[in-house]
Amino acid sequence: MHVSASVFFLLISIIYGSSVVPQNFTSSMRYAILSIVFLALYSCDTSDPDQIQFADNPVIAHRGAWKTQGHPQNSIASLREAIALQCAGSEFDVRMTADDVLIVTHDKDYADLLVEESSYAELAQYLLPNDEVLPTLEDYILAGMKDNSTTGLVCEIKPSATAGRNEEMAAAVIALVERLGAEKYMSYYISFSHKILMEIERLSPTARTLYLDGSIAPERLKIAGLTGLDYHIAKYRKKPHWIYEAKSQDLVLNAWTVNDTADIDWLLKNDFDLITTDEPELARERAARYQTTDDWPLVWADEFDYEGAPDPEKWGYETGFIRNQEDQYYTDSLRNSRVEDGHLILETHRERMINAAYKNDNVKSWKQNRSHAEYTAASLTTKDLAEWQYARIDIKAKLPAGRGLWPAFWMLGANWKEVGWPKCGEIDIMEHVGYEPDNIFGTIHTESYNHMRGTQKGKDIFINNPYDSFHVYSLIWTPETMDFLLDDVVYNSIPNEHLTEAEWPFDQKFHLKINVAVGGMLGGREGIDDSAFPNQMIIDYVRVYQAEL
Ligand code: MG
Repeated sequence: MHVSASVFFLLISIIYGSSVVPQNFTSSMRYAILSIVFLALYSCDTSDPDQIQFADNPVIAHRGAWKTQGHPQNSIASLREAIALQCAGSEFDVRMTADDVLIVTHDKDYADLLVEESSYAELAQYLLPNDEVLPTLEDYILAGMKDNSTTGLVCEIKPSATAGRNEEMAAAVIALVERLGAEKYMSYYISFSHKILMEIERLSPTARTLYLDGSIAPERLKIAGLTGLDYHIAKYRKKPHWIYEAKSQDLVLNAWTVNDTADIDWLLKNDFDLITTDEPELARERAARYQTTDDWPLVWADEFDYEGAPDPEKWGYETGFIRNQEDQYYTDSLRNSRVEDGHLILETHRERMINAAYKNDNVKSWKQNRSHAEYTAASLTTKDLAEWQYARIDIKAKLPAGRGLWPAFWMLGANWKEVGWPKCGEIDIMEHVGYEPDNIFGTIHTESYNHMRGTQKGKDIFINNPYDSFHVYSLIWTPETMDFLLDDVVYNSIPNEHLTEAEWPFDQKFHLKINVAVGGMLGGREGIDDSAFPNQMIIDYVRVYQAEL
């Protein structure tokens, strides 16, 4: 506890009696005054630990909120600013001096002195740029306990290369927190050292620990007993499935150090628990502005809770050879598409089918110069039945497996007939090619951005076993953005650049198609494995949500 010299003197005077205290004070009066002084100290300087309730936002100020006001990083001023901004947390870095004083500083040297080889007295000769004394961890925690009911202390313990030092630091930090009664203020302990976090967990089982290094899969952190992961945002961009895995394991998700609006928005969309940032004001503003799609009403759905042909009020068929020089012949037969056991089944067969549009082998059109097809499949469409402008579309499905298969959930613009492809715009909610079993793609094609020019805007995401387990493939399409999701994780976000319809033809209605193609320009690149037939795509539901106007 920080007790100023004058209060300290007063306490000593009261306890031991002195000239400043009247001699006729009884000891009970002295205790009464003592109690009042203590009460005053606790109630004025320190928040009631039971009153601390971390603010309902995901923002962690990285090394405090230092940037806007020009405070030094890791200064008490930056911590106080983070509290003033009501960030959910304020992060700081802890090291230990040669004489075992825990201090708050980032680098392993301070004022050209190595922290681990210098005493606190040597280091503290040098003030921070704002004339603050180099804060000890005790100073820092006490400053964080003062008039603070919103902002958790996020304590990063910097690993040491000296043997045994990491365990010592972990023990010293926990001992200090216990001595100060600061447990409730310490929202997270974070570290690049797995060993430090394991030691923290061992010493203080209620402590919450986040691993920083980015090298460990979420599942293994869970097994190790850590609370969550706090990885560099690039790691999540590269491995978005870790977001899904972390959520399924109930791990806390944090990312560092996220200063860019698009990155902050991406983490918000992915419902990160925490966002560590040098721009807490910006992150607070983006978080306040963020709108979830959770309350969008369902406007259209097929749950496939009937038997037989797909509901004709919802689905039409494409038949014959249609596009991309694909090898399948689409049919409206129950053999290729039907509803059974609560699912829509698209079944693809290797079987010979006469081409009704065949003219002769020498006509130019591939649709007319093939006398027959070697495969049959189905392509369902909501064209002329249902179209939407801006929506969230969720499709839960298992994909068919096999080289040469090309299942897709995708959309075309309503003006397709008038202006043609790619001017009408295409939204590929999910595409998968059988020769890349661990990947799916989410892509847009427009007049400016399309695969004929190699300028399409798409991204792939790793998928774990799309064949034997259901996954949810989603699109969230607003006037501003096109987001592609796998299992609720946004892996590709395409912003409306507000240029022309050549870049963004998406301010019109689109219809939905669901199909399994065989071969063709993308699916057939590595040939067709004929042992993969027959096969099924199994769809549990298609749901369309739209924001209330
Ligand atoms: Mg740090």
